[in-house]
Amino acid sequence: MGMNTYRAIVLALAGLGFLGFGLWFLVDPFAPLAAIGITASGPAAATEFRAFYGGLEVGLAALLLFAAAKPEWRTAGLWLVLAANAGIAAGRLLGIAIDGVWVPFFAMPWPGRSVSWPWRRGACAAEKHRQAERSQGPRGQRAGHSGGLALPSGFPLLLRPMLSNTLPTRDRLREVRYEIRGDLARRARELESHGHTLIKLNIGNPGAFGFRAPEHLQRAIVEHIAETDPYTHQQGLPQAREAVAAHYRARGLPRAHADRVFIGNGVSELIDLSLRALLNLGDEVLLPSPDYPLWSAATILNDGIPRYYRCRAENGFLPDPEEIERMIGPKTRALVLINPNNPTGASYPKALLEQLVAIAAKYRLLLMADEIYDGILYDGNTFQPLAPLAGDVPCLSFSGLSKVHRACGWRVGWAVLSGDPLRSGDYHHALDLLGALRLCANVPGQFAIEAALTGGDTITPLTAPGGRLHASRAAVIAACARSRFLSLLPPQGALYAFPKIDTTQLPGFDDYRFALDLLETEHVLIVPGSSFNVPDRDQFRVTLLPPAEAIDEVFHRIERSLALYAERGGMRKSA
Ligand code: PLP
Repeated sequence: MGMNTYRAIVLALAGLGFLGFGLWFLVDPFAPLAAIGITASGPAAATEFRAFYGGLEVGLAALLLFAAAKPEWRTAGLWLVLAANAGIAAGRLLGIAIDGVWVPFFAMPWPGRSVSWPWRRGACAAEKHRQAERSQGPRGQRAGHSGGLALPSGFPLLLRPMLSNTLPTRDRLREVRYEIRGDLARRARELESHGHTLIKLNIGNPGAFGFRAPEHLQRAIVEHIAETDPYTHQQGLPQAREAVAAHYRARGLPRAHADRVFIGNGVSELIDLSLRALLNLGDEVLLPSPDYPLWSAATILNDGIPRYYRCRAENGFLPDPEEIERMIGPKTRALVLINPNNPTGASYPKALLEQLVAIAAKYRLLLMADEIYDGILYDGNTFQPLAPLAGDVPCLSFSGLSKVHRACGWRVGWAVLSGDPLRSGDYHHALDLLGALRLCANVPGQFAIEAALTGGDTITPLTAPGGRLHASRAAVIAACARSRFLSLLPPQGALYAFPKIDTTQLPGFDDYRFALDLLETEHVLIVPGSSFNVPDRDQFRVTLLPPAEAIDEVFHRIERSLALYAERGGMRKSA
């Protein structure tokens, strides 16, 4: 082959390579950064990276061949190629530093297809976890999403696309997470789609474990279905609100009135709405740690700041009023209690609640009592509602049909405002306005409220000796008592147990890593304790909803998994 032909071929090659590179550039001018890996972990960036990098390398290789043909260009050509590759490598390293995740070139998805390599799946989830760990927010919260370079909203608009080609989302979402339905649950669904049978103890969803809403509640909806077409009043159906008010009057709140009852799409919606009605930027909310993470999320997303008071196992998972009082500052607006508690199962005694009411009165805080598990108690424990103790102190009490009445899917919850109406008048209007903006709650479900609150008690037969929840709880307690590694403060109420792992036997123990390993190897899904905004890494939550035999099996697998770590000298060595 003559020199001219050789030159023509390599020049054509270089041209093709650079043409490909250039075309991608025209399609998306921000892709060069992705090409050198700066937004390497986003799937779109990964696709571009592959296409770009390929084009660039072909062009550079061809240039090198071209240069090789001319002795006087040889050195310059070599340097050019070396410099270009060093630039790419540096960009890639920068991308890894920003994203915290190394996505190997071979594991990158092709355009339009998301690839998850089977041998990397577990590792990817662990990597994501480590990445989330690194990006802990100011209050020890983990990031709720990953990938791409997240820029603050004030970042100059014109420069933004040069550093990130991802659609921006609300900044404070990075402080929010809901691990109960997070990465682990997603991985569980993947395993199921590959034909694995899992035992899932992550969600307190009675219907998913064979419990049914009582028949008289179902009948109430069916009988009224023809009346459910129109919107209702924003606070809810009058007869449903009257039933709620009557229920609270019977509980010792003589001034409970239907006008101060708000019906929502589950307590979840009302938590968000009630914090939105309350908080201004930087206002603080006292939340339990462990908490039910929606409370943290709703505080953050409504511009507030969660301040966590500890409910330590050593203290029966109860709050310490003195600690709470010490945490109150000029910005503190509300004190949230979850009683009976998710995830710990603690049930708060009257004397403690009275102390907390006194604190709220002294500092003029709004009391927010999440009492969604109000009828679910074991071993003769009783439930003390907060509102009757609060007197004139503004108090919002939450409950609904999801747990006690086993109708999670109907999305029916209520909040009852109590205390001095003069003090809470503006807040009442704010709640009413926000309720009006979302028009009304699901109407068919509202027709079940009166039936639920006036019909018979259907939960005690499940929690009392001989009942299914009683048996499952007993199975958890027995399994923890048998365990070499676990200890448990028996839950007094609610639908969960929160066992603690003796990590002195398991150096390097990490609750998330444990949950992930348990899912991958034993096909059991639990929720790591750190998902509930606690600093400790040695707890996990299971729901008491599966039958006792399933609980036995789960704890057998948990024990096997922990014993394996112990055998290997701890978690680090098993990783
Ligand atoms: N509050 C707590 C403490 C919960 O555990 C849950 C659900 O698990 C909720 C509120 C949400 O309940 P709902 O189904 O009424 O939205």
